[in-house]
Amino acid sequence: NGGAKTVLWTSKNFRTQSGVPHGHFAGDATFLQAVDFYFDKAAAIASVSPDILAQIKACNNILRVQFPLKCSNGTVELIEAYRAQHSHHRLPVKGGVRMAPNVNGEEIMALAALMTFKCAVVDVPFGGAKGGIKIDPTKYSLNEKEAIMRRYTSELVKKKFIGPAIDVPAPDYGTGPQEMAWIKDTYEHMKSTDINGAACVTGKPLEEGGIHGRHEATGLGVFFCLREFLNDQDLVKKLHMSPGVKGKTFIIQGFGNVGRNLVDCIQRAGGLIMAISEKDGGLVDETGKGLDVSSIKEYHTRKGTLCGFPGANTIRDPAKILELPCDVLIPAALESQVHSENASRIKAQIIAEAANGPVTPSAEAILEKNGAVILPDLLLNAGGVTVSYFEWLKNLNHIHFGRMSRRMEESGKKVLLEALEQEFESKNKLSDDLRKELVKGNTEIDFVWSGLEETMLVSWANVRSTAERKDCNYRTAAYLIAIERIATCYRVNGIFP
Ligand code: GLU
Repeated sequence: NGGAKTVLWTSKNFRTQSGVPHGHFAGDATFLQAVDFYFDKAAAIASVSPDILAQIKACNNILRVQFPLKCSNGTVELIEAYRAQHSHHRLPVKGGVRMAPNVNGEEIMALAALMTFKCAVVDVPFGGAKGGIKIDPTKYSLNEKEAIMRRYTSELVKKKFIGPAIDVPAPDYGTGPQEMAWIKDTYEHMKSTDINGAACVTGKPLEEGGIHGRHEATGLGVFFCLREFLNDQDLVKKLHMSPGVKGKTFIIQGFGNVGRNLVDCIQRAGGLIMAISEKDGGLVDETGKGLDVSSIKEYHTRKGTLCGFPGANTIRDPAKILELPCDVLIPAALESQVHSENASRIKAQIIAEAANGPVTPSAEAILEKNGAVILPDLLLNAGGVTVSYFEWLKNLNHIHFGRMSRRMEESGKKVLLEALEQEFESKNKLSDDLRKELVKGNTEIDFVWSGLEETMLVSWANVRSTAERKDCNYRTAAYLIAIERIATCYRVNGIFP
Protein backbone atom coordinates (compact mmCIF):
# COMPACT_ATOMS: atom_id res chain seq x y z
CA ASN A 1 0.00 0.00 0.00
CA GLY A 2 0.96 3.68 -0.02
CA GLY A 3 2.52 3.60 3.43
CA ALA A 4 6.26 3.52 2.83
CA LYS A 5 7.99 3.16 6.19
CA THR A 6 10.18 6.22 5.85
CA VAL A 7 11.43 6.69 9.37
CA LEU A 8 13.02 10.10 9.38
CA TRP A 9 13.58 9.76 13.05
CA THR A 10 14.06 6.20 14.18
CA SER A 11 12.02 4.50 16.81
CA LYS A 12 15.31 3.63 18.49
CA ASN A 13 16.17 7.15 19.54
CA PHE A 14 12.74 8.49 20.39
CA ARG A 15 12.58 6.46 23.57
CA THR A 16 15.86 7.82 24.89
CA GLN A 17 15.42 11.40 23.70
CA SER A 18 11.86 11.97 24.70
CA GLY A 19 12.34 11.54 28.45
CA VAL A 20 9.56 10.26 30.68
CA PRO A 21 6.18 10.71 29.00
CA HIS A 22 3.96 12.85 31.17
CA GLY A 23 1.19 11.26 33.16
CA HIS A 24 3.22 8.07 33.36
CA PHE A 25 2.87 6.35 36.72
CA ALA A 26 4.94 3.36 37.66
CA GLY A 27 2.00 0.94 37.42
CA ASP A 28 0.92 2.21 34.00
CA ALA A 29 1.84 1.67 30.40
CA THR A 30 3.17 4.70 28.53
CA PHE A 31 0.64 6.30 26.17
CA LEU A 32 2.03 4.52 23.10
CA GLN A 33 2.14 1.20 24.96
CA ALA A 34 -1.48 1.78 25.98
CA VAL A 35 -2.60 2.34 22.37
CA ASP A 36 -0.67 -0.79 21.32
CA PHE A 37 -2.26 -2.73 24.18
CA TYR A 38 -5.80 -1.71 23.20
CA PHE A 39 -4.99 -2.51 19.56
CA ASP A 40 -3.65 -5.98 20.43
CA LYS A 41 -6.70 -6.75 22.55
CA ALA A 42 -9.03 -6.11 19.61
CA ALA A 43 -6.61 -7.67 17.08
CA ALA A 44 -6.85 -10.93 19.02
CA ILE A 45 -10.55 -11.24 18.12
CA ALA A 46 -10.34 -9.74 14.60
CA SER A 47 -10.57 -11.86 11.47
CA VAL A 48 -7.38 -10.35 10.05
CA SER A 49 -4.09 -12.04 9.19
CA PRO A 50 -1.05 -11.33 11.41
CA ASP A 51 0.93 -9.68 8.60
CA ILE A 52 -1.85 -7.18 7.90
CA LEU A 53 -2.25 -6.52 11.64
CA ALA A 54 1.48 -5.79 11.87
CA GLN A 55 1.28 -3.41 8.89
CA ILE A 56 -1.66 -1.55 10.40
CA LYS A 57 -0.12 -1.26 13.86
CA ALA A 58 3.22 0.24 12.78
CA CYS A 59 3.66 4.00 12.52
CA ASN A 60 4.69 4.73 8.91
CA ASN A 61 6.63 8.00 9.18
CA ILE A 62 7.79 10.25 11.95
CA LEU A 63 9.41 13.60 11.36
CA ARG A 64 11.30 15.39 14.09
CA VAL A 65 12.49 18.93 13.44
CA GLN A 66 14.41 21.48 15.45
CA PHE A 67 14.54 25.09 14.39
CA PRO A 68 15.58 28.39 15.96
CA LEU A 69 13.15 31.06 17.15
CA LYS A 70 14.20 34.69 17.46
CA CYS A 71 12.45 35.62 20.72
CA SER A 72 11.07 39.14 21.30
CA ASN A 73 13.77 39.80 23.92
CA GLY A 74 16.55 39.23 21.36
CA THR A 75 17.58 35.73 22.47
CA VAL A 76 17.43 32.67 20.23
CA GLU A 77 15.67 29.50 21.34
CA LEU A 78 15.64 26.04 19.77
CA ILE A 79 12.14 24.70 19.17
CA GLU A 80 11.50 20.95 18.94
CA ALA A 81 8.52 19.72 16.89
CA TYR A 82 7.06 16.57 15.35
CA ARG A 83 4.71 15.19 12.74
CA ALA A 84 3.83 11.48 12.78
CA GLN A 85 1.96 9.77 9.94
CA HIS A 86 0.62 6.50 11.22
CA SER A 87 -1.23 4.92 8.28
CA HIS A 88 -1.65 5.87 4.61
CA HIS A 89 -4.38 3.38 3.67
CA ARG A 90 -6.48 6.44 2.83
CA LEU A 91 -5.15 9.82 1.73
CA PRO A 92 -4.61 12.44 2.91
CA VAL A 93 -3.56 11.52 6.43
CA LYS A 94 -5.24 13.72 9.00
CA GLY A 95 -4.82 14.93 12.56
CA GLY A 96 -4.28 17.94 14.77
CA VAL A 97 -1.16 19.81 15.87
CA ARG A 98 -0.74 20.39 19.58
CA MET A 99 1.37 22.84 21.52
CA ALA A 100 2.31 21.63 24.97
CA PRO A 101 5.49 21.57 27.07
CA ASN A 102 5.52 17.78 27.35
CA VAL A 103 5.16 16.95 23.65
CA ASN A 104 7.42 14.05 22.70
CA GLY A 105 7.82 11.70 19.74
CA GLU A 106 6.25 8.71 21.40
CA GLU A 107 3.18 10.69 22.40
CA ILE A 108 2.71 12.04 18.87
CA MET A 109 3.00 8.52 17.43
CA ALA A 110 0.31 7.30 19.84
CA LEU A 111 -1.96 10.20 18.89
CA ALA A 112 -1.39 9.57 15.17
CA ALA A 113 -2.42 5.94 15.64
CA LEU A 114 -5.59 7.05 17.44
CA MET A 115 -6.40 9.28 14.44
CA THR A 116 -6.13 6.30 12.07
CA PHE A 117 -8.55 4.24 14.15
CA LYS A 118 -10.87 7.15 14.95
CA CYS A 119 -11.35 8.04 11.27
CA ALA A 120 -12.14 4.40 10.51
CA VAL A 121 -14.73 4.17 13.31
CA VAL A 122 -16.69 7.14 11.93
CA ASP A 123 -15.98 6.14 8.33
CA VAL A 124 -14.14 9.33 7.43
CA PRO A 125 -11.82 8.49 4.51
CA PHE A 126 -8.50 9.67 5.95
CA GLY A 127 -5.36 8.01 7.22
CA GLY A 128 -4.05 9.04 10.65
CA ALA A 129 -1.45 11.65 11.61
CA LYS A 130 -0.58 14.04 14.42
CA GLY A 131 1.79 16.90 15.04
CA GLY A 132 3.21 18.52 18.13
CA ILE A 133 5.33 21.51 19.07
CA LYS A 134 7.10 21.25 22.40
CA ILE A 135 6.30 24.64 23.92
CA ASP A 136 3.99 26.09 26.55
CA PRO A 137 1.97 28.45 24.30
CA THR A 138 1.04 30.69 27.25
CA LYS A 139 4.72 31.64 27.61
CA TYR A 140 5.06 33.06 24.06
CA SER A 141 3.81 36.30 22.52
CA LEU A 142 1.46 36.27 19.55
CA ASN A 143 4.34 37.25 17.23
CA GLU A 144 6.53 34.46 18.58
CA LYS A 145 3.75 31.91 18.16
CA GLU A 146 3.21 33.09 14.59
CA ALA A 147 6.92 32.68 13.84
CA ILE A 148 6.93 29.19 15.37
CA MET A 149 3.84 28.09 13.46
CA ARG A 150 5.08 29.48 10.13
CA ARG A 151 8.52 27.90 10.49
CA TYR A 152 6.93 24.58 11.53
CA THR A 153 4.70 24.72 8.43
CA SER A 154 7.65 25.53 6.17
CA GLU A 155 9.48 22.48 7.54
CA LEU A 156 6.41 20.36 6.78
CA VAL A 157 6.23 21.78 3.24
CA LYS A 158 9.94 21.19 2.56
CA LYS A 159 9.70 17.61 3.83
CA LYS A 160 6.40 16.96 1.99
CA PHE A 161 4.53 16.40 5.25
CA ILE A 162 1.65 18.73 4.42
CA GLY A 163 -0.75 19.24 1.48
CA PRO A 164 -4.45 18.78 0.64
CA ALA A 165 -3.70 15.33 -0.81
CA ILE A 166 -0.85 14.43 1.57
CA ASP A 167 -1.34 15.40 5.19
CA VAL A 168 -3.86 17.89 6.62
CA PRO A 169 -3.31 19.32 10.12
CA ALA A 170 -6.06 20.72 12.39
CA PRO A 171 -6.40 22.24 15.86
CA ASP A 172 -5.60 20.19 18.95
CA TYR A 173 -4.59 20.87 22.55
CA GLY A 174 -3.13 24.41 22.72
CA THR A 175 -3.92 25.43 19.13
CA GLY A 176 -6.97 26.93 17.41
CA PRO A 177 -8.23 28.78 14.31
CA GLN A 178 -5.49 31.45 14.45
CA GLU A 179 -2.71 28.87 14.26
CA MET A 180 -4.54 27.16 11.38
CA ALA A 181 -4.76 30.48 9.50
CA TRP A 182 -0.95 30.85 9.79
CA ILE A 183 -0.49 27.31 8.48
CA LYS A 184 -2.74 28.02 5.49
CA ASP A 185 -1.12 31.34 4.69
CA THR A 186 2.41 29.91 4.90
CA TYR A 187 1.47 26.92 2.74
CA GLU A 188 -0.14 29.15 0.13
CA HIS A 189 2.93 31.39 0.02
CA MET A 190 5.21 28.42 -0.54
CA LYS A 191 2.86 26.54 -2.89
CA SER A 192 1.25 29.39 -4.80
CA THR A 193 0.23 27.18 -7.74
CA ASP A 194 -1.79 24.78 -5.60
CA ILE A 195 -5.37 25.77 -6.38
CA ASN A 196 -6.54 23.62 -3.44
CA GLY A 197 -4.18 25.27 -0.97
CA ALA A 198 -6.94 26.14 1.50
CA ALA A 199 -7.59 22.41 1.99
CA CYS A 200 -4.06 21.90 3.42
CA VAL A 201 -5.41 22.48 6.94
CA THR A 202 -8.82 22.41 8.69
CA GLY A 203 -10.24 24.23 11.70
CA LYS A 204 -9.51 27.55 9.97
CA PRO A 205 -11.33 30.79 10.79
CA LEU A 206 -14.55 31.17 8.78
CA GLU A 207 -13.18 34.00 6.67
CA GLU A 208 -10.14 31.87 5.74
CA GLY A 209 -12.10 28.92 4.36
CA GLY A 210 -13.27 27.43 7.64
CA ILE A 211 -16.68 25.86 8.04
CA HIS A 212 -19.57 26.78 10.34
CA GLY A 213 -19.74 24.49 13.34
CA ARG A 214 -16.14 23.17 13.29
CA HIS A 215 -15.38 25.00 16.52
CA GLU A 216 -18.28 23.33 18.33
CA ALA A 217 -17.92 19.98 16.55
CA THR A 218 -15.89 17.90 19.00
CA GLY A 219 -17.95 18.94 22.04
CA LEU A 220 -21.19 18.48 20.15
CA GLY A 221 -20.11 15.04 18.92
CA VAL A 222 -19.27 13.97 22.49
CA PHE A 223 -22.70 15.19 23.55
CA PHE A 224 -24.59 13.36 20.77
CA CYS A 225 -23.01 10.05 21.80
CA LEU A 226 -23.33 10.57 25.50
CA ARG A 227 -26.99 11.52 25.05
CA GLU A 228 -27.63 8.30 23.11
CA PHE A 229 -26.04 6.25 25.85
CA LEU A 230 -27.92 8.00 28.66
CA ASN A 231 -31.25 7.76 26.81
CA ASP A 232 -30.87 4.00 26.42
CA GLN A 233 -33.09 2.40 29.07
CA ASP A 234 -31.32 -0.97 29.02
CA LEU A 235 -27.82 0.41 29.30
CA VAL A 236 -28.46 2.86 32.12
CA LYS A 237 -30.52 0.30 34.02
CA LYS A 238 -27.40 -1.82 34.37
CA LEU A 239 -25.80 1.15 36.15
CA HIS A 240 -28.90 1.60 38.36
CA MET A 241 -29.65 4.95 36.75
CA SER A 242 -32.78 6.39 35.20
CA PRO A 243 -32.59 7.31 31.51
CA GLY A 244 -31.91 10.85 30.24
CA VAL A 245 -29.36 13.62 30.53
CA LYS A 246 -31.69 15.67 32.72
CA GLY A 247 -30.72 15.67 36.38
CA LYS A 248 -27.50 13.70 35.86
CA THR A 249 -24.33 15.10 37.39
CA PHE A 250 -21.17 15.74 35.35
CA ILE A 251 -17.54 16.60 36.07
CA ILE A 252 -15.39 17.95 33.26
CA GLN A 253 -11.61 18.00 33.19
CA GLY A 254 -10.37 20.65 30.75
CA PHE A 255 -11.97 23.93 29.74
CA GLY A 256 -10.49 24.26 26.25
CA ASN A 257 -12.43 24.13 23.00
CA VAL A 258 -13.96 20.72 23.76
CA GLY A 259 -14.89 21.30 27.41
CA ARG A 260 -16.30 24.77 26.84
CA ASN A 261 -18.66 23.69 24.07
CA LEU A 262 -19.63 20.48 25.79
CA VAL A 263 -20.80 22.07 29.04
CA ASP A 264 -23.25 24.20 27.05
CA CYS A 265 -24.85 21.17 25.43
CA ILE A 266 -25.07 19.30 28.74
CA GLN A 267 -26.61 22.22 30.55
CA ARG A 268 -29.14 22.86 27.81
CA ALA A 269 -30.25 19.26 28.09
CA GLY A 270 -30.78 19.65 31.85
CA GLY A 271 -27.54 18.04 33.06
CA LEU A 272 -25.81 19.52 36.12
CA ILE A 273 -22.16 20.52 35.85
CA MET A 274 -20.84 19.81 39.35
CA ALA A 275 -17.17 20.63 38.79
CA ILE A 276 -14.75 21.79 36.10
CA SER A 277 -11.01 21.48 36.39
CA GLU A 278 -8.14 23.12 34.53
CA LYS A 279 -4.33 22.85 34.79
CA ASP A 280 -4.03 25.26 37.72
CA GLY A 281 -7.13 24.31 39.69
CA GLY A 282 -10.87 24.15 39.29
CA LEU A 283 -14.36 24.96 40.48
CA VAL A 284 -16.78 22.87 42.47
CA ASP A 285 -20.49 23.60 42.79
CA GLU A 286 -21.73 24.34 46.30
CA THR A 287 -25.41 24.85 45.57
CA GLY A 288 -26.40 21.37 44.39
CA LYS A 289 -27.93 23.01 41.30
CA GLY A 290 -24.84 22.89 39.13
CA LEU A 291 -22.34 25.58 38.14
CA ASP A 292 -23.38 28.73 36.30
CA VAL A 293 -21.54 27.89 33.13
CA SER A 294 -22.07 31.11 31.17
CA SER A 295 -20.67 33.32 33.97
CA ILE A 296 -17.75 30.91 34.38
CA LYS A 297 -16.99 31.14 30.67
CA GLU A 298 -17.01 34.90 30.79
CA TYR A 299 -14.70 34.84 33.88
CA HIS A 300 -12.35 32.30 32.29
CA THR A 301 -12.06 34.33 29.08
CA ARG A 302 -11.32 37.50 31.04
CA LYS A 303 -8.91 36.07 33.64
CA GLY A 304 -7.36 33.11 31.83
CA THR A 305 -8.11 30.88 34.82
CA LEU A 306 -11.09 29.32 36.58
CA CYS A 307 -9.59 29.89 40.01
CA GLY A 308 -11.19 32.59 42.10
CA PHE A 309 -14.55 32.61 40.30
CA PRO A 310 -16.84 34.09 42.97
CA GLY A 311 -19.86 31.81 42.47
CA ALA A 312 -18.18 28.49 43.30
CA ASN A 313 -15.61 26.81 45.49
CA THR A 314 -12.06 26.98 44.06
CA ILE A 315 -9.97 23.84 44.50
CA ARG A 316 -6.26 24.29 43.79
CA ASP A 317 -5.44 20.61 43.22
CA PRO A 318 -7.12 19.76 39.90
CA ALA A 319 -6.46 16.01 40.31
CA LYS A 320 -8.78 15.90 43.32
CA ILE A 321 -11.70 17.12 41.22
CA LEU A 322 -11.76 13.91 39.17
CA GLU A 323 -12.46 11.94 42.34
CA LEU A 324 -15.56 13.86 43.44
CA PRO A 325 -18.97 12.14 43.29
CA CYS A 326 -20.83 12.43 39.95
CA ASP A 327 -22.62 10.26 37.39
CA VAL A 328 -20.41 11.07 34.41
CA LEU A 329 -16.73 12.00 34.41
CA ILE A 330 -15.53 13.64 31.20
CA PRO A 331 -11.77 13.94 30.79
CA ALA A 332 -11.41 16.55 28.06
CA ALA A 333 -7.73 17.47 28.37
CA LEU A 334 -4.73 15.18 27.96
CA GLU A 335 -3.82 11.49 27.93
CA SER A 336 -3.20 9.21 30.96
CA GLN A 337 -5.24 11.32 33.39
CA VAL A 338 -7.03 8.35 34.95
CA HIS A 339 -4.27 5.92 35.89
CA SER A 340 -3.45 3.05 38.23
CA GLU A 341 -2.99 5.39 41.19
CA ASN A 342 -6.29 7.33 41.10
CA ALA A 343 -8.65 4.92 39.30
CA SER A 344 -9.96 3.24 42.44
CA ARG A 345 -11.01 6.64 43.85
CA ILE A 346 -13.08 7.64 40.79
CA LYS A 347 -16.78 7.67 41.77
CA ALA A 348 -18.32 8.19 38.34
CA GLN A 349 -20.08 5.21 36.78
CA ILE A 350 -19.63 6.53 33.26
CA ILE A 351 -16.31 7.79 31.92
CA ALA A 352 -16.74 9.69 28.66
CA GLU A 353 -13.39 10.09 26.88
CA ALA A 354 -13.56 13.49 25.22
CA ALA A 355 -9.74 13.64 25.30
CA ASN A 356 -7.45 11.25 23.42
CA GLY A 357 -6.23 8.37 25.59
CA PRO A 358 -7.24 9.73 29.01
CA VAL A 359 -7.57 6.28 30.67
CA THR A 360 -4.60 3.90 30.96
CA PRO A 361 -5.13 0.12 30.59
CA SER A 362 -4.50 -0.49 34.33
CA ALA A 363 -7.05 2.19 35.19
CA GLU A 364 -9.55 0.70 32.74
CA ALA A 365 -9.26 -2.68 34.47
CA ILE A 366 -9.87 -1.09 37.89
CA LEU A 367 -12.81 1.02 36.69
CA GLU A 368 -14.48 -1.90 34.96
CA LYS A 369 -13.99 -4.12 38.00
CA ASN A 370 -15.86 -1.44 39.94
CA GLY A 371 -18.72 -1.57 37.43
CA ALA A 372 -18.00 1.62 35.50
CA VAL A 373 -18.57 1.96 31.74
CA ILE A 374 -16.08 3.74 29.47
CA LEU A 375 -17.22 5.47 26.29
CA PRO A 376 -13.98 5.40 24.28
CA ASP A 377 -12.12 8.28 22.61
CA LEU A 378 -12.10 6.60 19.18
CA LEU A 379 -15.83 7.10 18.97
CA LEU A 380 -16.59 9.88 21.40
CA ASN A 381 -14.30 12.68 20.23
CA ALA A 382 -14.48 11.84 16.51
CA GLY A 383 -16.86 14.76 15.85
CA GLY A 384 -13.89 17.09 15.35
CA VAL A 385 -12.35 15.17 12.49
CA THR A 386 -15.79 14.47 11.02
CA VAL A 387 -16.46 18.18 10.58
CA SER A 388 -12.84 18.66 9.44
CA TYR A 389 -13.74 16.26 6.64
CA PHE A 390 -16.68 18.50 5.69
CA GLU A 391 -14.38 21.53 5.74
CA TRP A 392 -11.82 19.78 3.52
CA LEU A 393 -14.58 18.82 1.06
CA LYS A 394 -15.88 22.37 1.06
CA ASN A 395 -12.40 23.74 0.28
CA LEU A 396 -11.84 21.26 -2.54
CA ASN A 397 -15.23 22.18 -3.99
CA HIS A 398 -14.45 25.90 -3.82
CA ILE A 399 -18.02 26.59 -2.74
CA HIS A 400 -19.61 26.84 0.67
CA PHE A 401 -22.44 24.56 1.61
CA GLY A 402 -25.61 26.61 1.40
CA ARG A 403 -24.53 28.80 -1.53
CA MET A 404 -27.09 27.01 -3.67
CA SER A 405 -29.91 27.70 -1.25
CA ARG A 406 -29.55 31.47 -0.98
CA ARG A 407 -32.71 31.85 -3.03
CA MET A 408 -34.73 29.88 -0.55
CA GLU A 409 -38.25 31.15 -0.01
CA GLU A 410 -38.68 33.39 3.04
CA SER A 411 -40.90 30.71 4.58
CA GLY A 412 -38.25 28.07 3.95
CA LYS A 413 -35.75 30.07 5.99
CA LYS A 414 -38.22 30.47 8.78
CA VAL A 415 -38.99 26.77 8.92
CA LEU A 416 -35.30 25.96 9.01
CA LEU A 417 -34.60 28.45 11.75
CA GLU A 418 -37.50 27.22 13.86
CA ALA A 419 -36.56 23.59 13.40
CA LEU A 420 -33.01 24.30 14.49
CA GLU A 421 -34.09 26.29 17.51
CA GLN A 422 -36.55 23.64 18.50
CA GLU A 423 -33.90 20.99 18.21
CA PHE A 424 -31.64 22.83 20.58
CA GLU A 425 -34.52 23.79 22.86
CA SER A 426 -33.45 27.35 23.36
CA LYS A 427 -33.43 30.54 21.36
CA ASN A 428 -30.05 31.43 22.85
CA LYS A 429 -28.40 28.39 21.37
CA LEU A 430 -27.82 29.98 18.00
CA SER A 431 -25.20 32.66 18.19
CA ASP A 432 -25.98 35.97 16.50
CA ASP A 433 -23.51 35.16 13.73
CA LEU A 434 -25.15 31.86 12.96
CA ARG A 435 -28.58 33.42 13.08
CA LYS A 436 -27.49 36.06 10.58
CA GLU A 437 -26.12 33.39 8.27
CA LEU A 438 -29.32 31.38 8.54
CA VAL A 439 -31.49 34.34 7.77
CA LYS A 440 -29.36 34.94 4.69
CA GLY A 441 -30.29 31.44 3.66
CA ASN A 442 -26.95 29.84 4.52
CA THR A 443 -27.72 26.27 5.41
CA GLU A 444 -24.11 25.29 6.00
CA ILE A 445 -24.60 24.91 9.75
CA ASP A 446 -27.64 22.73 9.17
CA PHE A 447 -25.62 20.53 6.83
CA VAL A 448 -22.72 20.31 9.29
CA TRP A 449 -24.71 19.58 12.44
CA SER A 450 -27.04 17.07 10.84
CA GLY A 451 -24.08 15.35 9.15
CA LEU A 452 -22.26 15.26 12.47
CA GLU A 453 -25.24 13.92 14.37
CA GLU A 454 -25.91 11.24 11.78
CA THR A 455 -22.25 10.18 11.83
CA MET A 456 -22.12 9.95 15.62
CA LEU A 457 -25.40 8.05 15.95
CA VAL A 458 -24.60 5.52 13.22
CA SER A 459 -21.11 4.97 14.65
CA TRP A 460 -22.39 4.60 18.20
CA ALA A 461 -25.02 2.05 17.09
CA ASN A 462 -22.27 0.10 15.35
CA VAL A 463 -19.95 0.17 18.38
CA ARG A 464 -22.78 -0.79 20.67
CA SER A 465 -23.94 -3.76 18.60
CA THR A 466 -20.36 -4.94 18.00
CA ALA A 467 -19.70 -4.88 21.75
CA GLU A 468 -22.82 -6.97 22.31
CA ARG A 469 -22.04 -9.41 19.52
CA LYS A 470 -18.42 -9.90 20.57
CA ASP A 471 -19.10 -9.64 24.30
CA CYS A 472 -16.39 -7.01 24.73
CA ASN A 473 -16.24 -3.45 26.03
CA TYR A 474 -16.93 -0.42 23.81
CA ARG A 475 -13.24 0.38 23.37
CA THR A 476 -12.41 -3.06 22.05
CA ALA A 477 -15.49 -2.91 19.82
CA ALA A 478 -14.38 0.44 18.38
CA TYR A 479 -10.82 -0.83 17.74
CA LEU A 480 -12.26 -3.98 16.18
CA ILE A 481 -14.46 -2.02 13.76
CA ALA A 482 -11.48 0.15 12.85
CA ILE A 483 -9.07 -2.74 12.39
CA GLU A 484 -11.43 -4.71 10.17
CA ARG A 485 -12.23 -1.68 7.98
CA ILE A 486 -8.57 -0.71 7.61
CA ALA A 487 -7.53 -4.32 6.99
CA THR A 488 -9.85 -4.45 3.98
CA CYS A 489 -7.98 -1.48 2.46
CA TYR A 490 -4.57 -3.00 3.14
CA ARG A 491 -5.69 -6.29 1.62
CA VAL A 492 -7.25 -4.78 -1.48
CA ASN A 493 -4.44 -2.24 -2.03
CA GLY A 494 -1.77 -4.93 -1.85
CA ILE A 495 1.88 -4.11 -1.35
CA PHE A 496 3.85 -1.60 -3.43
CA PRO A 497 5.83 -2.29 -5.64
N1 GLU B 1 -7.31 17.21 17.00
C1 GLU B 1 -8.60 16.63 16.77
C2 GLU B 1 -8.61 15.16 17.15
O1 GLU B 1 -7.84 14.74 17.97
C3 GLU B 1 -9.12 16.92 15.37
C4 GLU B 1 -8.32 16.34 14.25
C5 GLU B 1 -8.76 16.82 12.86
O2 GLU B 1 -9.78 17.47 12.75
O3 GLU B 1 -8.05 16.49 11.93
O4 GLU B 1 -9.43 14.41 16.72
